[in-house]
Amino acid sequence: MQAPLLSIVIPLLNEEHNLLPLYAELSSVLGKLSHFATTELIFVNDGSWDGSLDILKKLAAGDSRVKIISFIRNFGHENATYAGIHHARGNAVVLIDADRQDPADLIIDFEKHFLEGYDIVFGQRTKRLNESWLKKFTSNLFYPLFKKLTKIDMPRNVGDFCLLSQRAIDTFKLLPENQVFVRGLIYWSGLPKKSVPFIRRSRATGESKYNYTKLTIFALENIISFSTAPMYILVFGALGVIALCILGALTALIMKIFGLVVMTGWTSLMLAILFLFACNFLALGVLGIYLSKVFQELKRRPMFVVNELVGVTPNQHLHGNHYAYLKK
Ligand code: UDP
Ligand code: MG
Repeated sequence: MQAPLLSIVIPLLNEEHNLLPLYAELSSVLGKLSHFATTELIFVNDGSWDGSLDILKKLAAGDSRVKIISFIRNFGHENATYAGIHHARGNAVVLIDADRQDPADLIIDFEKHFLEGYDIVFGQRTKRLNESWLKKFTSNLFYPLFKKLTKIDMPRNVGDFCLLSQRAIDTFKLLPENQVFVRGLIYWSGLPKKSVPFIRRSRATGESKYNYTKLTIFALENIISFSTAPMYILVFGALGVIALCILGALTALIMKIFGLVVMTGWTSLMLAILFLFACNFLALGVLGIYLSKVFQELKRRPMFVVNELVGVTPNQHLHGNHYAYLKK
């Protein structure tokens, strides 16, 4: 019987200094796995403009396990991961970042829990080295909010570092949207999951590609693409404000009837106006984001354009319009 195949999916953008150490780290760890004997390493080059692609090609020339999906330009981390999962041929897939923040030896524990029957085994960060308090604070805010609003049981402090069983991969592949938040889609399935705690290392070299603006947009878009709760919050909020206004108007009327002073100064008035304006803009903004999601989905544009494939067979049959391959 052929040994089960494990696919390692590695999205990357400009990681030329991390690729060789990562490859060495992964090779050593994969040799220690007991269940998965054969492996493939799918590097998804998300439009790097440094020497990453050349390094990958050299690695692929010397090791048939190394496979490359190379995008013509940068389509984003999520799309790169999505592409990797959809081209993987393994009976299980491990997602890992290329910057070596995720310790590869955790894959051994992933395999152990996979063999116990878990479909999603994920690395859970207990400590984040060299991350600012603001990043820690915002991520502490995001996870509970995401869970509360979307009802998706996505654990806190997880990245994409995980192992997915065949069932988890199959369920993931069923989802037809092309605006993807990989983690959300993985946990959407509700399949049995197990966490493996780890301390997240700081980046070996290079900079994180996510700044605060990007992270805020990312958080907002992801909550919105999984939940309609923000729209209802707006509706109920607006109803509440209307009720308060009616109450205020009635109080003023009653006070007037009894000859009491109705208003003093205009500060309260200005504050109320400003507050309501802010609410209006907020509401418009939220609606705008929903609309833009619908707009993006309706266009059905390919999620990425593949310029080069090394060792990977094009996946043509899944959601045809999610891919575009450039013919040489
Ligand atoms: N990445 C990518 N495309 C992008 C941005 C990032 O493929 O547009 C890769 C990056 O090379 C790394 C992983 O995605 O392997 C995570 O990115 P990063 O380290 O910037 O994110 P962070 O760890 O700060 O969340
Ligand atoms: Mg990183």
